[in-house]
Amino acid sequence: MGLTSTSTGAGAADTALVLRRERPDDRIVSLAGNPNVGKSTVFNALTGLRQHTGNWPGKTVALAKGTARHQETDYTLVDLPGTYSLIANSAEEAIASEFICFQKPAVTIVVCDATALQRNLNLVLQILQMTANVVVCVNLMDEARKKKIEIDLEKLSELLQVPVVAASARSHQGLDALMDAVAQLTEHPRTQIACLDYPFVIQNELDRLRGQLRMLDPAYDIPWIALQILNNPESTLKSLYESTSLSQADIETLHSLALRSRKVLDQAYKNDRWPDQLIQCPIQQAQQLAEQTVTMNEAEAMKRDRQIDRILFSRWAGIPLMILLLCLVLWITLAGANIPS
Ligand code: GDP
Repeated sequence: MGLTSTSTGAGAADTALVLRRERPDDRIVSLAGNPNVGKSTVFNALTGLRQHTGNWPGKTVALAKGTARHQETDYTLVDLPGTYSLIANSAEEAIASEFICFQKPAVTIVVCDATALQRNLNLVLQILQMTANVVVCVNLMDEARKKKIEIDLEKLSELLQVPVVAASARSHQGLDALMDAVAQLTEHPRTQIACLDYPFVIQNELDRLRGQLRMLDPAYDIPWIALQILNNPESTLKSLYESTSLSQADIETLHSLALRSRKVLDQAYKNDRWPDQLIQCPIQQAQQLAEQTVTMNEAEAMKRDRQIDRILFSRWAGIPLMILLLCLVLWITLAGANIPS
């Protein structure tokens, strides 16, 4: 677990950054996203020089946190590790999902790449099973415009039932609107966490686990925790024990329930691998969402590339260009390299 009471206390590694809620009204905002979607660019633009870097307590994974000031209010931004999914349980994925589930940031911003929205929506749908307080930041809008990709942000927001904000973080566009949405959600938090449409038998077992979690402590009645207990009982329950107030007896109850549910699903699916469904469901729903909201004018976008290809690869221009390039390489090898040396 990233930030438990023990790991943030005196025993925490020297290099680890300590993150505590100093006051109950501290506004903690986590930033999640696939790698290379401009998450650090958003983080840097919002926090400026008011940031610290270190390691997640007890882990060698880098952590950056900083303060963003918006309309006279301070927000503590925590940059979660970039991941494509949160289900495979690498150290980075565990940190990101456990931070959202157990530390309960006021808002989680999920930064997405507008030019590859479908792939990014998979992570959005996974995070929506952890918290209702999500703002989707569709970044790289300038690149999408160049590629003639159109995104119906209003419809996406309607379908996901969370605010969706367009941004081009490199030129600081859309970041004010992003913080407006964060401020709004901090003031009026939502409680109803989304649940995806899993096949009926799987849903039944997930509901059973959620029911037990609700009885033990309603704070952990989170669809994602039930899903992780079903998918990976041992390591999830270990994290739950270390990161929550659940007792050893509670953990044992959940463990036997998980084993029972897994047996039911093994029998129902026979030779098919039911855990694949847990991965496939958000991927399929991300695809459906993208089909309803993204329009790719590929023909238009590819027009310029095709024109360049037509010239470069034509017989009359291609062969002379290739000879010229070979001459240039020969010249660099024999004479050109002497200039810098
Ligand atoms: P991260 O891996 O998600 O943290 O991504 P980075 O913040 O490191 O950004 C990856 C690359 O995308 C960098 O070269 C950024 O300069 C670039 N980038 C970030 N935001 C934008 C944007 O809005 N438009 C464009 N064109 N490039 C961006």
